[in-house]
Amino acid sequence: MTLASQNSDPETTAAPYGLANPDVSIDDPASDSPTDTLLTSILDVSEDDLNYQVSQMGQPPFRARQLWRSLYYEGAQSFDEMTTLAKPFRAALEERYRISPIVPEVELRSADGSTDKILFKLQDGELIETVLMRYGLDGHRRARRTVCISTQAGCALGCTFCATGQQGFRRQLSPGEIVAQVLHMRRIIRSENAELIAAGSAKKDEVTEITNVVFMGMGEPLANYNNTLSSIAVMNHAQGMNIGARHLTVSTVGLVPEIRKLAREPYQLNLAVSLHAPDDESRSRTMPVNKRYPIARLMHACRDYVETTNRRIFFEYVLLDHENDTPEHAKKLAELLNGLMCHVNLIPVNPTEKGPYSRPNDKRSALFREVLTKAGIANTVRQEKGIDINAGCGQLRAHALDDAVEAAE
Ligand code: SAH
Ligand code: SF4
Repeated sequence: MTLASQNSDPETTAAPYGLANPDVSIDDPASDSPTDTLLTSILDVSEDDLNYQVSQMGQPPFRARQLWRSLYYEGAQSFDEMTTLAKPFRAALEERYRISPIVPEVELRSADGSTDKILFKLQDGELIETVLMRYGLDGHRRARRTVCISTQAGCALGCTFCATGQQGFRRQLSPGEIVAQVLHMRRIIRSENAELIAAGSAKKDEVTEITNVVFMGMGEPLANYNNTLSSIAVMNHAQGMNIGARHLTVSTVGLVPEIRKLAREPYQLNLAVSLHAPDDESRSRTMPVNKRYPIARLMHACRDYVETTNRRIFFEYVLLDHENDTPEHAKKLAELLNGLMCHVNLIPVNPTEKGPYSRPNDKRSALFREVLTKAGIANTVRQEKGIDINAGCGQLRAHALDDAVEAAE
């Protein structure tokens, strides 16, 4: 495990909070100035409201559009940087708002340099995790930069193999807190790209920005439905972050009413459903949510989702040694998914401190996979990227699914 001794993004030195300091205990109270902590993050102001607020400040509508672009396209970290805006207007904004509602507290980088994990502190001291994964060109697949984001501090759903579930629920994240995670990771990538270009190692059109966002960090995105959807609107906004909906993946534990609702949203998102067991008995053992939404209801909603959206569903299946990984489980899974447009992502569990689970050996995983493949169910097993910093997290299996999404595209 590598504890980064310095921030990899020189731009953050200009942030109002200063550099992330790995020596600071994560229990320390926020060190921001008292006035700062009272200010609302401008990232929590919706587009409509921002237009209104800007007009209330006596500015013409195009100023709101410039401000929006500075925040989400350019990724400004201070109002001072927004030189397209007049100084008095910038000063007025500065008095009312802060920009980011999250502060990096601990930053980890995997030994191979491909993966960063950041622990962010929120304004009230809550902590969340975000992961950045860098993938190079790989055969026919283009280079990618994927961010795995949190939507809640903690989680109420209590899946027994999940480190977040083991910690319980703290609170919902606001849209600004969700979007700020992507903005922060994009700054890291942009500054790396700028270095490559300056060193002559790459041309401007050869570098890769953030390509994918997966909602697979802490929390259940569909239990924070409105804020998750608001954050998607900002990420997808053509004059904002401009990330195509097909490059956004929402992962859910299987909340049936919300899956049905999501099917009617106007985005071509990817949906990942955490199935993890093919029958109610095994699923209820590891996922308490199964008592509320048993497999038959969940699968009915999934089939309707595919029919309505004409998009495949990604099923996540965490392999737990001697719990859900026998050939019989695989056979039942194949029957359950028979004829459904889908892709199964098999993820050897990342054992958590409190959980009793371990990974099946390669032979068991291969056998499980073989049964699925023979039954014609598309599937992928991925080994971990940045395992050294994911260890102990029990989460963020995102990259594995992200690979599966790419492979299926
Ligand atoms: N709450 C959502 C999204 C966050 S969890 C959900 O459950 O889908 C993202 C993914 O990580 C889920 O598929 C989840 O089951 C999986 N996961 C949780 N703990 C894990 C662990 N210890 N090892 C491997 N995957 C895990
Ligand atoms: Fe919550 Fe997802 Fe973890 Fe289950 S796997 S406890 S739903 S974060």
